[in-house]
Amino acid sequence: MPCPRLLLAATLASSVFIAAHAATATTAASVEVDARDAPRGIERVHLVLPVKPGKLTLLYPKWLPGEHSPDGPVSGLSALKFSSNGQAIVWQRDADNMYAFHLTIPSATRSLDVAFEVDAVSGATDNNALRTSTESLALILWNQLVFYPAGAQSDDLQYTARLRLPAGWSFGTALPQVSSAGDTTQFAQVSLTTLIDSPVLSGRHFKTVELGATPAVHLHLAADSEAALDIPAATTAQLRKLVQEAAALFGATHYNEYHFLWTLSDQLGFEGIEHHQSSDNRSAERSLIDEDLRRSEAVTSLLPHEYAHSWNGKYRRPIGLATGNYDSPIRGELLWVYEGLTQYLGMVLGARSGLAAPTEARDGWADAAAWLQTRKGRDWRPLADTAIAAQIGYTQAHEWRPRTRATDFYTESAMLWLEADTLIRSTTHGAKSLDDFCRLFYGPPSSAPKVVPYDFNDVVQALNTVMPYDWRGFWTLRLNRVQANAPLEGLAAGGWHLAFAAEPSPVEKADGALEKMTNLYYSLGVTLKDEGAVILDVVPGTPADAAGIAPDSSLIAVNGRKYSKDVLQDALKAGGDGPRALELLIQKDEMFETVELQYAGHARYPRLERDTAAPDLLTPILSPRTQ
Ligand SMILES: [Zn+2]
Repeated sequence: MPCPRLLLAATLASSVFIAAHAATATTAASVEVDARDAPRGIERVHLVLPVKPGKLTLLYPKWLPGEHSPDGPVSGLSALKFSSNGQAIVWQRDADNMYAFHLTIPSATRSLDVAFEVDAVSGATDNNALRTSTESLALILWNQLVFYPAGAQSDDLQYTARLRLPAGWSFGTALPQVSSAGDTTQFAQVSLTTLIDSPVLSGRHFKTVELGATPAVHLHLAADSEAALDIPAATTAQLRKLVQEAAALFGATHYNEYHFLWTLSDQLGFEGIEHHQSSDNRSAERSLIDEDLRRSEAVTSLLPHEYAHSWNGKYRRPIGLATGNYDSPIRGELLWVYEGLTQYLGMVLGARSGLAAPTEARDGWADAAAWLQTRKGRDWRPLADTAIAAQIGYTQAHEWRPRTRATDFYTESAMLWLEADTLIRSTTHGAKSLDDFCRLFYGPPSSAPKVVPYDFNDVVQALNTVMPYDWRGFWTLRLNRVQANAPLEGLAAGGWHLAFAAEPSPVEKADGALEKMTNLYYSLGVTLKDEGAVILDVVPGTPADAAGIAPDSSLIAVNGRKYSKDVLQDALKAGGDGPRALELLIQKDEMFETVELQYAGHARYPRLERDTAAPDLLTPILSPRTQ
């Protein structure tokens, strides 16, 4: 999953198929999906499961790999019917586990028909229940379209899938195909693990771009308009470079082929879900064709982040996240490696590939450092706890996150991995780096997809192999301490420090345009949603906090004049560097209130400045390794 910091915010079967299927019913399940109504948010499923007579409990996938949360969209199920040989079978949901359904299979019954619909809802709070289709495209997520027997491991269950798309739509997926006829595709028999790990991106406006390499890497684009598919040649070249740089970093691959699935839609919003041989990347519709949006870190590091997960997260996986099914709770305590190091590598590979120019990459680090300084909840909540509590972190309220913290294990861990990298580089005088750890831990020999679990000791041991050091102490201290200050030591050791400029960087402007918000975190201490000028958040210890402003208020007027971005920016500039009061008219619920906000100076936006007290290690970290 990408860093949420950037989000401030019918019966389908032909009788021929059923007959063909019956012969294999005892060995593999078949799942037939009719997605012709996907633009309306409805997908219809006919599942045939091999069964034995007697009691049976079927499970709907709950804990989804990559989402680190129990958010399988079970509330979106409808029209659920179980039958065998045309006879309905009664079902009862478990009183404790909403994802479990109890049935009694009649004697002499060998296969069970399960018909149901999945109705996607845009208002859902669970990540996986968010909208996955528009009038022009659909993401087919197999976890939403299957049941499996309780007690089984997903590696041991075989499924064959068949998919019917709206007429004329194209698709891309890592799921191997057997045949295609018209708008229907038959996929090869695979394990349930592989099926759920292989989503399908489909759409009316669709394009596939080959990115080369061995094993082959493909890019599939689906967009809400034909115009949005017009990927610049320079971006394609940067994505090819990304594949080369990842090969240089890890020295091996653990996939048979790789497919980037990239959805370009303003309706679905920002998301990224990693898979072993593919990734589900979702960006704004014009991310590729609008030069300003393209600079956003949400664009430049999204594909590098999800791609790095093929090694860090899918191949090597924390033991607590390698449960082997979708009903056992996951343990997120090592997400500071799974997501934190991936966040670091996403930023590093984004720069090495050229997706982010060197200044843009540094602006990204400045943004991360400044954002970390707003997380005042660090004074009560250690970083380790944010990882342990990941399963409640993604969906928690956005208001007051600087006090509560949330999924801080992304950005804060990335900053700590930078510290580890600079420590290795400076101690070994450049002979070693975190790249050596990546090659050792995630690298050769190349393999087909498989999971190799690890624990904290394995991480410490691999770091010690790269460079003998008290790595156990290094991580134990940083994961468990409570302190208000952001851990920016790695930035200083890399020869740079955080500074502030009066104008936003192009990266900051792009982030603001993408998220449709104005970031005044580092001046007044608030972020403002553009629509309605709603104050999204207030940072403790800032002028807005001191003035008693609350999240979910609206900014109505500044110094007596109706609020607009320009009016506020002009007010910030007008007083020069001197202290002064800004008079803000605020609406909270149904009450209006005028507050005086004490402020000195201009607007402030993060930048990195070179600090010659230390050699510049950040530049070599962000520089390409391949020609
Ligand atoms: Zn991730």
